Amino acid sequence: MAVNEHIWDLIVIGGGINGAGIACDAAGRQLSVLLCEMDDLASATSSASSKMIHGGLRYLEHFEFGLVRKALIEREVLLAKAPHIIRPLQFVLPHAHSVRPAWLIRLGLFFYDHLASHPRLANSQGINLRRHAAGAPLNSSLRRGFIYSDCWVDDARLVLFNAMAAAGKGADIRTRTELIEARRADGLWRARLRQQSSGIETVVQGRAMVNAAGPWVESLLQEQLGLPSGQGVRLIKGSHIVVPRLSEGEHAYILQHADRRVVFVIPFEERFSLIGTTDVVHRGKPEDATVSADETAYLCDVVSSYFAAPVRPSDVVWSYAGVRPLFDDEAEDPSAVTRDYVLNLDQAAGEAPLLSVFGGKITTYRKLAEEALADLKPFFPAMGEPWTVAVPLPGGDLPGGDFEALVAQLAGRYPRLQRPLLRSLAARHGSLSDEVLAGSYQPSDLGIDFGAGLTAGEVDYMIEREWARSGDDVLWRRSKVGIHMSTAQRAAVADYVAGRVGIRSG
Ligand SMILES: Cc1cc2nc3c(=O)[nH]c(=O)nc-3n(C[C@H](O)[C@H](O)[C@H](O)COP(=O)(O)OP(=O)(O)OC[C@H]3O[C@@H](n4cnc5c(N)ncnc54)[C@H](O)[C@@H]3O)c2cc1C
Repeated sequence: MAVNEHIWDLIVIGGGINGAGIACDAAGRQLSVLLCEMDDLASATSSASSKMIHGGLRYLEHFEFGLVRKALIEREVLLAKAPHIIRPLQFVLPHAHSVRPAWLIRLGLFFYDHLASHPRLANSQGINLRRHAAGAPLNSSLRRGFIYSDCWVDDARLVLFNAMAAAGKGADIRTRTELIEARRADGLWRARLRQQSSGIETVVQGRAMVNAAGPWVESLLQEQLGLPSGQGVRLIKGSHIVVPRLSEGEHAYILQHADRRVVFVIPFEERFSLIGTTDVVHRGKPEDATVSADETAYLCDVVSSYFAAPVRPSDVVWSYAGVRPLFDDEAEDPSAVTRDYVLNLDQAAGEAPLLSVFGGKITTYRKLAEEALADLKPFFPAMGEPWTVAVPLPGGDLPGGDFEALVAQLAGRYPRLQRPLLRSLAARHGSLSDEVLAGSYQPSDLGIDFGAGLTAGEVDYMIEREWARSGDDVLWRRSKVGIHMSTAQRAAVADYVAGRVGIRSG
């Protein structure tokens, strides 16, 4: 078996948001970084979220003021870093007195507005649902409501842009590469990696290792690293369903259920609404999580109790389930388990350190990465200072964060390309759209048109620059165009990707 003599500073296991965020931060501090991800980037929890960059209004009820404040600060930071894939979103909260009294909601929203400054996002306010446009799709019996601000994010692309930023700073990002086994020896980690398609195994060496395996964090410790389990993790499944659009406006809805949980209804991909989520204890393997009929029925019931037109399981056009790797704080109720993270540093004298990530949110990944690097600083005293707070992610350097200005500029530069195509490119690639277009001024320059605004030119870019290796990578993570396509169109994309990837590796 090939042993690579090169010694990396950091070997990061896991290409979800936390692994990619840590790799990006570390590479920018001049550490040499190798990240291995056994599947695609963001193939697990980090593409199965509710896609909100949010403080978490409901966590206030569990007195998690520290977490909410940290997340609210990060909301502004991330909005500035990635305005192409993160945008403000207003949430309508219909008042349901039987669940929570209005004074409690007002108090929560007061804290939400004041725990951190939010120059780009409006303060909350009370509304009359019978008069406000956002009340139109709701039951006419609902009168009072509230509106507050949070943000929407393309979660999978947030991971991708962190990986791209890391690679841009010298990190080696290896997708479809699984950590099979790792052991400490002579002050280093020696890790055996297996490349998925070829089955080829290599041994790499690193001065430190980060276990950012998300829901696999504990099994990785025990099975691949031969160590005792760490802090303890609770695997809590959360499912989402997608149905034809329930409301015309751009508002999202947060619906309080009798069980005191909340369910979100979020505008999704123009024509759809995303509904989620659930909290179900997950006992199997993380990769086996699926949306159950009970979860679908539960989500439909909650939404139907607020919206004038009922939502039925037969309306569901797409669904997905993810497993939250929550830090086990021994809370009984799955929805009450903390959403904060814990970093565990394992190191005996003279041995290479291991840092494991338990829990966390997409919203707090950058802060988590900064704290991870602070924990590793004693082992790399020459590492650079924190730097990620004010540096845009790839494609996010839009003057004034103005997305519409970018679309207008693209329309000026590419007058023969249709505006909806340019808009979807801008929403996926931001200021990198010019690189994707690469001088394609005529529609025919972009090659095959697969439908739903996806062209061969863009797919080629996703393969060359974004580690896309399968139809699913392109259809459901680098974009969400899969939801707009027929089975035949999706198959055409998958065939095309398989052909291109075959040519590349052949
Ligand atoms: C239903 C749901 C809704 C959520 N909504 C939100 C939200 O709206 N906002 C928010 O901020 N957060 C949200 N979260 C939380 C957020 O999604 C997670 O905290 C975050 O994605 C976890 O990222 P991660 O990198 O730790 O794990 P993951 O994304 O799961 O990444 C871990 C990676 O490690 C890889 N891996 C595992 N073992 C190995 C190995 N041996 N070798 C190589 N690779 C390996 C896996 O393939 C995986 O890709 C939600 C979570 C869920 C489940």
